[in-house]
Amino acid sequence: MPTSGDASGALPHVVLLPSAGMGHLVPFSRLAVSLTSSGHGCGVSVATVLPTVSSAESAHLEALFGACPAVRRLDFHLAQFDASEFPGADPFFLRFEAMRRSAPLLGPLLAGASASALVTDIALASVVIPVAKELRLPCYVLFTASAAMLSLCVHFPAYLDANAGGPVGDVDVPGVYRIPKASIPQALHHPEHLFTRQFVANGRELAKADGLLVNSFDAFEPEAISALRDGSVAVGFPPVFSVGPLAPVSFSAGEPAENQPDYIRWLEAQPARSVVYVSFGSRKAISKDQLRELAVGLEASGHRFLWVVKSTIVDRDDEAELSELLGEGFLERVQGRGMVTKGWVEQEEVLKQESIGLFISHCGWNSVTEAAANGLPILAWPRFGDQRVNAGVVARSGLGVWEERWSWEGEEGVVSGDNIAEKVKAVMADETVRKKAVCVQDAAAKAVADGGTSYSSVAQFVQQCRDLS
Ligand code: UDP
Ligand code: UDP
Repeated sequence: MPTSGDASGALPHVVLLPSAGMGHLVPFSRLAVSLTSSGHGCGVSVATVLPTVSSAESAHLEALFGACPAVRRLDFHLAQFDASEFPGADPFFLRFEAMRRSAPLLGPLLAGASASALVTDIALASVVIPVAKELRLPCYVLFTASAAMLSLCVHFPAYLDANAGGPVGDVDVPGVYRIPKASIPQALHHPEHLFTRQFVANGRELAKADGLLVNSFDAFEPEAISALRDGSVAVGFPPVFSVGPLAPVSFSAGEPAENQPDYIRWLEAQPARSVVYVSFGSRKAISKDQLRELAVGLEASGHRFLWVVKSTIVDRDDEAELSELLGEGFLERVQGRGMVTKGWVEQEEVLKQESIGLFISHCGWNSVTEAAANGLPILAWPRFGDQRVNAGVVARSGLGVWEERWSWEGEEGVVSGDNIAEKVKAVMADETVRKKAVCVQDAAAKAVADGGTSYSSVAQFVQQCRDLS
């Protein structure tokens, strides 16, 4: 170790190790496809844990391996894990923990795979980096959220050390900016929380990685990316490759029009920029009371809308009827101008539609990068975890607006339908917001074009893998 995956010794074989949840799997599969493309030409395997937590992940993996034979599957069998140690914990965090405890099993797996480099997920970093070091295998981390969040992850252990057990307040990330207390992920206010323990351990170990890849681009997050690179956040921090926005992988390309899902056919029939797309991602449920108010708000806004409703954390558990969730008569009243679904939509196909004018988003980082690539304004309604930090990036960059007073998981109260309707009407009518979002799209296109900052970052990463292999 390391050995090159290619007989000629020219092509590095990169093993990718995502953790759990679509927010992590999606950018990993995008990176996998990008690395196998002719421009970069690496051999790629994706370490896969089956069964997955959600059905969305299992459908995604099947589509990835079916559509992209150049990406190989490497089965990672986890050790037995007793979840009863963490009663009530989020099923995705439990999978992180099960994977972390199985890290010693990676040694033989990677040795057998003739890997020349490993790219792991932030949630696994502190346990996987030592295994790779032991094998003398170069190890990188793909950070699946914003560079601002990465800077917080790197700085947070030092913040806690200096804070000597005091309550977590605003965190001033050196060289970046001050992240207000209210934007710090909920769990990080509780030192004993499973997520916090993992987050701090990962943050401490990151400096030992051979490099960090982040799904962002220089013009989008100039402060955080430069501060990570110039050592302001942490002295001697490894190279940071800003490779975003990673291009979506279309599994439905070439499908005849009659096989298009009904929501795409409906969107195609709507006037340009007339539809509000509403989605809070794949990970979290919204309370029933808040869902009702959102329904009232969308109806009162008078605009067309496509709304993906999620009422449970894991999709397999979702059995509630839409009519029961949204209130009597709602679906009938909005028929023709509103589409509501509980199923999975191909979001990257949705965001490409000309009829979409606004994205009400929880600001999961993949959603933000997809909106940036499509020049689609966001009305940010972060709910949980890293989403307020990401919403801060949306507001700073001009990609959209953030209604900061809107509630956050764990806070009292619901946002009223009237409030939502008013805001939707205002942002839909705001030409300045729209123009700024298009500027972000132009900058994103420049970054990923041949010679752009993100294109060059991927090329530098591949070169470093070659040099180290
Ligand atoms: N997504 C999708 N259809 C859905 C819900 C989500 O295609 O119905 C995709 C979305 O495009 C994004 C990913 O799943 O690529 C979700 O990641 P994100 O970081 O936006 O949010 P998370 O789900 O992790 O909160
Ligand atoms: N994260 C991190 N360190 C960790 C685990 C997660 O920095 O040890 C980041 C992760 O990239 C994301 C945020 O913390 O920005 C929330 O992670 P989670 O997996 O809960 O969110 P998801 O992306 O699945 O919505």
